[in-house]
Amino acid sequence: MSGVFLGMPAFPQAAERAVRDERLRTNLRHATHTIRDKRARAVAELPDWAELRAAGKAIKDHTLRHLDRYLVQLEEAVTAAGGTVHWAADADEANRIVAGLVHATGEREVVKVKSMATQEIGLNEALAAEGITAYETDLAELIVQLGDDRPSHILVPAIHRNRAEIREIFAERMAAWGRPAPEGLTDAPAELAEAARLHLREKFLRARVAVSGANFMVAETGTLVVVESEGNGRMCLTLPDTLISVVGIEKVVPTWRDLEVFLQLLPRSSTAERMNPYTSLWTGSSAGDGPSDFHLVLLDNGRTAVLADQVGRQALRCIRCSACLNVCPVYERAGGHAYGSVYPGPIGAILTPQLRGTASPVDASLPYASSLCGACYEVCPVAIDIPEVLVHLRERVAAQGGHALERAAVAAAGYVLDHPALLTAAERLAGRTRALHPRRLPGPGRAWTDTRDLPEVPAEPFRDWWRKNRP
Ligand code: SF4
Repeated sequence: MSGVFLGMPAFPQAAERAVRDERLRTNLRHATHTIRDKRARAVAELPDWAELRAAGKAIKDHTLRHLDRYLVQLEEAVTAAGGTVHWAADADEANRIVAGLVHATGEREVVKVKSMATQEIGLNEALAAEGITAYETDLAELIVQLGDDRPSHILVPAIHRNRAEIREIFAERMAAWGRPAPEGLTDAPAELAEAARLHLREKFLRARVAVSGANFMVAETGTLVVVESEGNGRMCLTLPDTLISVVGIEKVVPTWRDLEVFLQLLPRSSTAERMNPYTSLWTGSSAGDGPSDFHLVLLDNGRTAVLADQVGRQALRCIRCSACLNVCPVYERAGGHAYGSVYPGPIGAILTPQLRGTASPVDASLPYASSLCGACYEVCPVAIDIPEVLVHLRERVAAQGGHALERAAVAAAGYVLDHPALLTAAERLAGRTRALHPRRLPGPGRAWTDTRDLPEVPAEPFRDWWRKNRP
């Protein structure tokens, strides 16, 4: 993964700052509760939701098990349909390929369909370094780009902004990026949408190159699929001459029958809609119909390493619906920026440390950014057991070696618990010296007692009480 968010503090420090921001918490609470309630109603409409969920899980597991075969099949189908397939091992290679393709067209700007994969590799920044400007066209991504901000949600990247803030961003920043906001713009949703529409329309009509991701790729025909709600994607996918799609290798599904399952699971889980307003599908290129030059960049960037982990690989089933974010009590309070990655919330807590590794303090802290309540697993449409992966990753972080004092304490506790006589003596001693016990732990344990009460040791150990009171 790219280092877009490097420099961020570890999750506990970033979250501590975020929870003090009352406006952020209000915006997040309102937005996540609205989406989660709508999702629950949309899912309840389908009597066979559990079967669909099981089917989605099974299809993804099967595809991941035979990923090599399906990717080759996909490449052959895309090539036969007139497209060109490129393989990118990491973010740098993917960025180099895309920049080279844009340079080859002679253009200096591209329009973009909302894409997590291109954010993951830091494509906009890489293109800017090559003198190419990337214009985001999704409304929320536009807000983030104009506000010089970072996305905080997978589906609603500007979820941390309210209408008044968006009005301010449009009024102040649109002119620097193209058509200015209309005079006297208010924060009425219709006016904000119209301002964005006018601003973006000139970009759609001018652009000769578009960059997209894809929600799915169908191996049997080489077809790519983008689902969206605004129609900006449709404009980018049809008007320009050249289309470059950067897609993670895990997005492939074998057949159209498989796609049918995900086109039911995704809209209800993400936007609580029965079907997506815009579902765009394209296969290679054809003269006189959409872009005449199509390039598919297949992105690994750590995915094959995730695939090698028997517990962690289930994260690759993710269809980026964001349902897990909307129900997570930690995300609701900390917001997306605290996760230090383009993938926030529960899925980010298991995906980012696998894609980037757990060497940095930010990445090592992410598996702990959860209460393990399990709400994320309940709503996940492809049944990713996020708590299981979190615990698995915590084991990995612990194995890297924690604080020396922590290790010594755990070793001492292990020894005492292994020797019953010693344990009894320790319990009695703890009971008799309870008046001297500190209220807060010293050293690395201090952070734990900063937010919790240290449990009081009883005056009499249970064993002694039992001996006296047993019937
Ligand atoms: S982990 Fe599941 S619930 Fe979360 S974004 Fe991915 S598919 Fe959706």
